[in-house]
Amino acid sequence: MSLAPKLVFAERRVVTVRYVADVHGVWRPERPRRCSLFSEASPCKISFHRWRVRKCGPPHPLAGFYCATHECYFTGYPPSWLPFGRRPMVHVTPDDLEVFDVGEPPEAWVETAFGAAVDAAARRPWPKSAGGFIAWRKRFGREPHGVFRTQLRHMDGALVLFALVDSIAADQPAVAAALGIDLSDVVMAARRIRDGPAWRAKGETGTDLLGAVGRPRRSLLSGFIRLGRDRRYWGPPSTVSAG
Ligand SMILES: [Zn+2]
Repeated sequence: MSLAPKLVFAERRVVTVRYVADVHGVWRPERPRRCSLFSEASPCKISFHRWRVRKCGPPHPLAGFYCATHECYFTGYPPSWLPFGRRPMVHVTPDDLEVFDVGEPPEAWVETAFGAAVDAAARRPWPKSAGGFIAWRKRFGREPHGVFRTQLRHMDGALVLFALVDSIAADQPAVAAALGIDLSDVVMAARRIRDGPAWRAKGETGTDLLGAVGRPRRSLLSGFIRLGRDRRYWGPPSTVSAG
């Protein structure tokens, strides 16, 4: 998950579309009604452009679209996925339904965008380099989401997203409201960051907050998206589908 401000993308709408399985079990996108450059004054004319297959990310190809009005190509992201994301924010089905069998926090979050913190808190540093992936896979029975440097970057991004760093502590009430938790949970989680050593303390800070949030569930998405928008990690959502 690229939890980092990307100014180029901060003003572009993230186009989310549902993918619905056809009779062969292939996930087909619904056609969006708005492109990433949508404005009320000029309605979009959108057609399917091509399939995008990615090395990491959603387990099915993503649909690329073209808007003739705004002369732009854009990707239709499935619910819970954002540009540059390697994992979803929470687990939902491609057709935007709740996934119930996700386990209990914090491990339930390990295959989400916040997996870096869960792994750090459980003393699972990601490999120093790509050469360490095989050993890591053997030891932990699954894929790391990147190298250790990426793990640190993901955690730093999440700490800012949830206002768990001192410089934006004033945003903690907004975080509590967006996630539906008590302000004291955010404040307490933020304190953990001083408990060093740094990488594990960051992980524990993150998992404290995720523990307060509870299971990764669909109802959290709008709050996450709002917080990311506030941090300029991504643009406003555009979720209207033509069906
Ligand atoms: Zn358009």
